[in-house]
Amino acid sequence: MALLDVSTIYLEPAVHEFARGREILARWPDAERIAVDSHWAIPHLHGNAGNVARWNDVKRTTLVLGVKKSRPVRPNGRSSDFIAPSHANGCTMSCAYCYVPRRKGFANPITTFVNIEQLTATIGRHVAKQGSKPAPNQCDPEAWVYDIGENSDCSVDATICDNVADLVALFSRLPTAKASFATKWVNPALLDLDPRGRTRVRFSVMPHEVSKLLDVRTSPVRERIAAIDSFVEAGYEVHLNCSPVVVTEGWTSAWKELLEEVADTISPAARAQLKSEVIFLTHNEDLHEVNLGWHPRAEEVLWRPELQEPKRSQNGALNVRYARGKKGRMVSVFRDIWDAALPGCEIRYAF
Ligand code: SF4
Repeated sequence: MALLDVSTIYLEPAVHEFARGREILARWPDAERIAVDSHWAIPHLHGNAGNVARWNDVKRTTLVLGVKKSRPVRPNGRSSDFIAPSHANGCTMSCAYCYVPRRKGFANPITTFVNIEQLTATIGRHVAKQGSKPAPNQCDPEAWVYDIGENSDCSVDATICDNVADLVALFSRLPTAKASFATKWVNPALLDLDPRGRTRVRFSVMPHEVSKLLDVRTSPVRERIAAIDSFVEAGYEVHLNCSPVVVTEGWTSAWKELLEEVADTISPAARAQLKSEVIFLTHNEDLHEVNLGWHPRAEEVLWRPELQEPKRSQNGALNVRYARGKKGRMVSVFRDIWDAALPGCEIRYAF
């Protein structure tokens, strides 16, 4: 089944005023168009619990177009120095642990923002204001790193329009900054762009069996690993995003096999630049309830109260994460597995 087969487009009226908006509408001339006041307020699409059963169908057939009005650049400090203002949010894939598609409610198909010139101008000004990076940090030794895919998967977004291409082109001209995004989908069309080393693709990986259960509608992990060399050859920096690490029966041997597979597959050039970030699963009580409605088998591995402890997030939601004493040991075991499989490749951070 196609990842995206758009038959309904919700759009804010101002979308017609932007060339990117008109381009996208021209791509799907037969799609039903439904005018909405705001991409945030489509209650029958986003907040409808009855959509859970047809969640994936909605994600495949629906696109939302909007204009990004507030464009803050936010500090980060973990995988990137800054979070760039979103060019999109939502996702057509359905990873069971993902907070991104749940932000707007139940089904959360892709929203694409059509004012890309304003977005790239905001980022360009922010980069100029920073000057050179004064000292290396875990994000990068020399460049300011901007995450351009916090709320979506850029590889899929790039099948809708040229927003991602425009961002890759922008950063290719910025000697003090880099774009960065994590992805679970292989889009060979990205190989035709010219990133000149200024865009970092972080392919997300996890052991195959767990991925088959949790990574719904994504590219298989084996395909993501196989793509690493060609992305490096095309001028991307390629890192791994080992995330989420889900503790299951046999998780250590599964990760060992997976990382050895990476080591055996990638070229010396890819390996020379490979780094990783490692993030153990954080789950959420509301998401747990939602998942029970469409993918209960996933919850058998994600919701493990005997291993997890609650943590109230800043917005009041109840999250669970592996309990403090246990997690420190888990991180250290993971580091040992990584170092044995890929000696010399750095873990930028693990938690
Ligand atoms: S691909 Fe990424 S954004 Fe999409 S559902 Fe999976 S984790 Fe979420």
